[in-house]
Amino acid sequence: MSDEKKKALEAEIRSYVGKPIGPPVTGRDPVNEPMLRQWCDAMGESHPAYLDAEAAKKTVFGEIVAPPTMLQAWVMEGWAMHEGYDEPKNEQHRLHKLLADHGYTGVLGTNTEEHYPRYLKLGETVTALTVIDEISEEKATGAGIGYFITTKTSFTNQDGEDVGSMSFRVLRFKPAQAQKAAPESGTDAAVAQKPSRIKPPMGRDNGWWWEKVAAEDCLPIQRCKGCQKLRHPPRPMCDVCGSQEWDSIQASGKGTIHTFTVIHYPQFPGYDYPIVSIIVDLEEGERMASTLVDCKPEDCVIGMPVEMVIQEDEDGFKIPFFRPAG
Ligand SMILES: [Zn+2]
Repeated sequence: MSDEKKKALEAEIRSYVGKPIGPPVTGRDPVNEPMLRQWCDAMGESHPAYLDAEAAKKTVFGEIVAPPTMLQAWVMEGWAMHEGYDEPKNEQHRLHKLLADHGYTGVLGTNTEEHYPRYLKLGETVTALTVIDEISEEKATGAGIGYFITTKTSFTNQDGEDVGSMSFRVLRFKPAQAQKAAPESGTDAAVAQKPSRIKPPMGRDNGWWWEKVAAEDCLPIQRCKGCQKLRHPPRPMCDVCGSQEWDSIQASGKGTIHTFTVIHYPQFPGYDYPIVSIIVDLEEGERMASTLVDCKPEDCVIGMPVEMVIQEDEDGFKIPFFRPAG
């Protein structure tokens, strides 16, 4: 893209900053018990304050409340939100289509932050207003060059009371392989070597896990020092006893496939498709998400015994995968 064209594109995308993506959206149903139960089932959440009216009476709330992390679920539009890409129906779609039409065809969710001032109660109606909050300068990333777009959603109840907010950031990028093919990328030196896969976010809560995998070629599982409960993925506090003291055990690496899905699209550079994405029931009792290797997608079945195998990317990054056992 010429400098002039790029300037014009950037001026146009900047004009979206501060705009609501459309009118406020009100949830189809008020906060209700059937949706609470479905959501808690899906998430493996069993706290009685969300599910048991009698038990909830004895909590500080005195009645059933909704899990705070369910906030966005109350206003989700279902399948309808995925339709109409070719005919954008809101400002966010228009912004994304504009970038896609200029070659920024990849999209990757990067991070989200939510704020919950209080718990929602049964019968409350949730309305969300989403604004395009920020667009970064063009950045070079492992996935390709692109723009980080942050939207901010404010949630209110039927009385206009603040019940939460969410900021959501995505990277809209030119996939690295497409860049390689573009004529304006110039000399051979611009032709990138095979890109490596996108690295997992490694923070204070989970960095140790990846380091241990790499250093000891093992599959660690975090264990609560208070009640010995295992937990994965790693997090700072035990959901049973509240202890923040923990150590880890070395898992056998053996397990069975709890469920799986085969991913064909969207395709990111650095991955071999199709990807058999699996949830493994580990022998020790915890579950983890991983990828099945050395197995055709059509041969993958629920309940299949698997064993861990650590593979190393070309850049030396180690990742535990699973393959059919034996
Ligand atoms: Zn514990």
